[in-house]
Amino acid sequence: MARILVVGGGFAGLSAAARLAKLRHDVTVLERETEPGGRLLGIRIGDDRWAAGPESVTLPGVFRDLFRKSGRPMDALIAITPAGPRHHVLPARWPRRTVTLDLPFGTRGAQVDAVVSAFGSDAWSPWVDESPAPWNELRRRVFEVAHTPDSPVAAVTWSDRSLRDVVRPLRDSRLRRLAADLPGLTEAAPGVLAVWHYVERNFGRWRFDGGSAGLAAALTTRLRERKVTVETGVDVARPVESGVELADGSTREADVVVWATGTDPLASPTAPTLEHTAVRLDGDPDVPDDLVVHDRDVVRGWRSGPDGWVFEARRDVDPLAVLARHGLDLTPRVTWRESVPAPPTSDDLPRPARSPRPGLWLVGAAASPGASLEVTGMGTAALAEHLGAVPR
Ligand SMILES: Cc1cc2nc3c(=O)[nH]c(=O)nc-3n(C[C@H](O)[C@H](O)[C@H](O)COP(=O)(O)OP(=O)(O)OC[C@H]3O[C@@H](n4cnc5c(N)ncnc54)[C@H](O)[C@@H]3O)c2cc1C
Repeated sequence: MARILVVGGGFAGLSAAARLAKLRHDVTVLERETEPGGRLLGIRIGDDRWAAGPESVTLPGVFRDLFRKSGRPMDALIAITPAGPRHHVLPARWPRRTVTLDLPFGTRGAQVDAVVSAFGSDAWSPWVDESPAPWNELRRRVFEVAHTPDSPVAAVTWSDRSLRDVVRPLRDSRLRRLAADLPGLTEAAPGVLAVWHYVERNFGRWRFDGGSAGLAAALTTRLRERKVTVETGVDVARPVESGVELADGSTREADVVVWATGTDPLASPTAPTLEHTAVRLDGDPDVPDDLVVHDRDVVRGWRSGPDGWVFEARRDVDPLAVLARHGLDLTPRVTWRESVPAPPTSDDLPRPARSPRPGLWLVGAAASPGASLEVTGMGTAALAEHLGAVPR
């Protein structure tokens, strides 16, 4: 049996711990805060926690597999239901006009109808249809792999081209923006990441009962069922040869350290380029739950609670000014507003489970800044498979 210390109890740490405990390893989670959950419990802005993103996930199979392989099926602990469409504002220069598009997830036919009603014809679906082969390659060769220090960097279709190149066949600039504006990425990111549109169309987007805090609670229950020790209030300073060193200078021994704090302990910190602005709005504002304004300065927004929204934009951009430019002037309704820097993101192809040296694994956002929950879940599955079960 390997003694495994999992550092950080966000989705990456909790999902790794649940899988590894089921494989009979001796797993302890060390979490700095007073409860596990990390960003699943939201981001702190002012005195409150706010949703870290639109509270929905794609690839439900990743989450079903996590619960099934760590004990009982997911439905025994938490239900999921389909999420509504994402509202896109797609500006254009004259003679084209700005269009709004409520793009649904999960069926090709519904996407065709939505695009035809916004644009008059559908050039989007044939472009998305190109993605299944690159998606399968990306999944099998990059996301579902535990990358060791000597793993070669996988070459996958479209990874040698940029997003800018891969969206070029879309003749309409508004559709090119729809295709290229992916969360946390610039147009210089590897083109293969455009397959995310196919993933959302094919697998849908889903909400957990109780949102992502509901997912955190279900995983915490699962860890209790698996008798995983979760120590809270433990601040870990760094990984060391024999395990980890805590902030108080003491050490904890382990055969394997799974580092899941959201940041790479061996890399120099990068400056955030994005900012999250939380606002509370008065009255009954008609703001979509999940929206993207594809301006030159892209603004994403999502609902957080009954009267709150979080907007994500570049740090030098006022998201409310961008919204106002596109007919959504929220300023008169704002009763409270505060901004915090967003965690750094990266244009690199996410490798959600990677080992920089023997005995140390990075998972989730620590392995790849901005790794989504789904990609993180694929990484912890790959790690569990790589470490394998302890013989009975
Ligand atoms: C609803 C939702 C929507 C999201 N949408 C997007 C999106 O659209 N785009 C995107 O890029 N990302 C998005 N994210 C974020 C992305 O999913 C995260 O990267 C993912 O949650 C990875 O989680 P993590 O466990 O790696 O990190 P975290 O959730 O940050 O967890 C890290 C944990 O480690 C603990 N910790 C930190 N330092 C220490 C230490 N020194 N010692 C001990 N413990 C420590 C923290 O307290 C925390 O519990 C979203 C997240 C959520 C919850």
